[in-house]
Amino acid sequence: MTAGPASRSAGPGRIPPLRADLGLGEGYHSPQVAARVRLNTNESPMPPPEAWVRAVQDELGRVPWHRYPDRAAWALREAIADVHGVHAEQVWCANGSNEVLQTLLLAYGGPGRSVAVWEPTYALHSHIAELTGTAVLAGRRGSDLTLDLDEVRRVVEAGQPTVTFLCSPNNPTGESVPPATVDEVLGRAPGLVVVDEAYGQFAPTSALDRVADGQPLVVTRTYSKTWSLAGLRLGYCVAAREVVAAMERASLPYHLSWFTQSAGRLALDYVDDMERRVSRLVEERGRLVAGLSALPVQAWRSDANFVLFRPQTRRGDDVWKGLVDRSVLIRNCSSWSGLDDCLRVTVGSPEENDAFLGALEEVLA
Ligand code: PMP
Repeated sequence: MTAGPASRSAGPGRIPPLRADLGLGEGYHSPQVAARVRLNTNESPMPPPEAWVRAVQDELGRVPWHRYPDRAAWALREAIADVHGVHAEQVWCANGSNEVLQTLLLAYGGPGRSVAVWEPTYALHSHIAELTGTAVLAGRRGSDLTLDLDEVRRVVEAGQPTVTFLCSPNNPTGESVPPATVDEVLGRAPGLVVVDEAYGQFAPTSALDRVADGQPLVVTRTYSKTWSLAGLRLGYCVAAREVVAAMERASLPYHLSWFTQSAGRLALDYVDDMERRVSRLVEERGRLVAGLSALPVQAWRSDANFVLFRPQTRRGDDVWKGLVDRSVLIRNCSSWSGLDDCLRVTVGSPEENDAFLGALEEVLA
C-alpha cells in the first residue's frame, strides 16, 4: 500500500511549507498553449546563423569536458568587453540576464535593504527581490504608462532604495528611458541604479556609455532577444569593477558551463549579422504598429521587439482566446495591475505578423 498524503502530514520528515514571502504564483509565467504562431515571449523569430552552429560544433570537439570550465569565464568576458569598449573586469556573465539580476541582489539586496521599481514593469525585478529577502518599493508609472519623473523622485527620496531598477525599454510597455532620466536617477538614487536593457539593441539610446569605475550604475543585457539565442541562456552586465567583483563573490563556482562560454564567445563573431536582424525586426515593428493603427485598438509606442495594445471594442481576455482559437499565441497582460484588457505581441517574422494581424482583424470584426 502506498502512503497517502495524510500519513505524512505530521511528525519528522514532513515537507515544510513553502516560504510565505515568495510571491509570484503561476500568474506570471506565460501559458505554453500549443499554437502555430507563437508571439508571446519576445524571442527572435530567426534562428542564429548556420555558420555559428557549425563553429560551435567544431569547438565542442576541443572542449576539455572532464575539467571544470574557466571559473572567471575570461575569454567570453574579454570578447563582450571588446564589443562595448570596456575592460573585461567590468563585465560579468551568467545563465540569462535573470541570473545576473539575481546575483546582483544576492550581493547587494537582502534583509534591511530595498529595491525600487515602477509598475507595470518586468515582474522578475520584484520577484528576485522577494527571493533574496529584499523589500520592494513599488511606485507607479504615469497614466500613459511612461515613467513619471515626479513619482520616481518621490519613491527614491522617501524610500532610499539600495537598488533602483530602470527597465529600458520597459517590458511590457515598450518605451525606453531617455538618457537625461538615467542621469537624473543616477544623481538622486542613494545606491545602485540597474538599467535592464534586455531589449536595448532595439532602442535608440543606451546607458552603456555611462558605465565607469566608481559609478553606481549597472547595465544588463541578454543574448535571448537580439542574438537569437534564448535557448543558450546567457546574459551579462557591464558595471564598475568593484560591482563585478562583488557579483563574483555572490555567485556559485563554475556557474557558467564550457558550452555556454564557448557558444557565447563565438556568437560575437556574427555581430554584423545580428545587427541586420535587429534592423529587420525594427522594420517589421513599424509594419506591425501600422497594421494595429488600422484596427480598433490603442497601441503604445515601442522601442523593443514587442508592442503593447488594448482592444477597444472587446475585452482583452476574449481577444486573447479568439487569437488562440486561430492558433496565434500572444501574451495576455489583462490581469496585470494597471494593464486592464492589455495584450502584448512579440514582433515576429513577416508571415507571423501577417497571421497575427489577420487573426486580430477577424476577432475584432
Ligand atoms: N529583463 C527583461 C526586461 C526581460 O523581459 C527578460 C526576458 N523576459 C529578461 C530580463 C530575462 O532575460 P534572460 O534571462 O533570457 O536573459
